[in-house]
Amino acid sequence: AKEQGKNNYKVFHSGMNIQSYRTFIMQNELRKAIEREEFLLVYQPRIDIETGTIKSAEALIRWEHPSWGTILPSEFIPLAEETGQIVEIGEWVLKSACKQNKIWQDKGLAPIRIAVNFSAQQFLQKDLIDTIKNVLIDTAVSPNLLEIEITESVLMGNETTISNTLNQLRKIGIFISIDDFGTGYSSLSYLRRFPLNTLKIDKSFIRDISTTSSNSNLLISTIISLAHSLNMSVIAEGVETEEQLNTLRKLNCEEIQGYLFSPPVLPKEFEDFLIQSQDK
Ligand code: C2E
Ligand code: CA
Ligand code: CA
Ligand code: CA
Repeated sequence: AKEQGKNNYKVFHSGMNIQSYRTFIMQNELRKAIEREEFLLVYQPRIDIETGTIKSAEALIRWEHPSWGTILPSEFIPLAEETGQIVEIGEWVLKSACKQNKIWQDKGLAPIRIAVNFSAQQFLQKDLIDTIKNVLIDTAVSPNLLEIEITESVLMGNETTISNTLNQLRKIGIFISIDDFGTGYSSLSYLRRFPLNTLKIDKSFIRDISTTSSNSNLLISTIISLAHSLNMSVIAEGVETEEQLNTLRKLNCEEIQGYLFSPPVLPKEFEDFLIQSQDK
């Protein structure tokens, strides 16, 4: 139940159906996952369309359960949001991504920015700014190498609070991007009101790209112009084909992310990409 706080434990009762039993078991396992070191991060490169080099990466969480195997975030993030555990998991993600970035920097690799996904609940924590500052200090990572991805829905809450938080993050030097752009709300006025760096065009729009001038190309072109007119850059996610890449290049999209270049990979493999990218 949503109203249950972070430390409240659900109690199993015999009237539960299979689905809620499954949820119950998973939520209990989730509580032990950090301590048991069952989470890991995979990294998906984002490619600068113009130069073909890697400028940044998105960190994505995976859960390796000892008996269930790999569980994708689409399955367990909603459960963690329900119990409030997402806050703790989110902090683990932030810390781990920054630690990894520091390791790459210490190896002398070209600096990249790492983008981390924040759930609404996590973004709305009162001590968010302090938490982030502390992680950056502890890991000795420069704020401009951290990006926070939030969805449009996060921006629909209390305007003053959200505006304050975003302004503080920007002042520190952290980048902010809007994930899944175009799937949420019809109001675009928030783009003007909040200090945002990047729009990520949702993969559903990218999927529809075709070389013949279609409505979806027009839509993407409009989103890109809108972003540029507001001094924001654009990343296209879910880029799987050369055709999509070529269209996005023509439309002046700055960065792409997707299976065409690489799926999210383990740190070691990502490191190899960085070394190759550096040689370009
Ligand atoms: P998202 O933030 O929109 O992440 C992009 C998703 O698209 C990822 O799925 C990625 O693996 C997948 N993807 C990348 N390239 C392609 C492509 O070319 N084609 C297609 N079809 N898919 C592609 P993933 O890793 O399963 O993550 C799913 C969602 O789970 C994420 O969507 C995000 O909302 C959430 N998530 C993942 N990691 C975290 C996290 O650390 N914290 C939070 N709060 N949410 C997370
Ligand atoms: Ca994302
Ligand atoms: Ca997305
Ligand atoms: Ca998403």
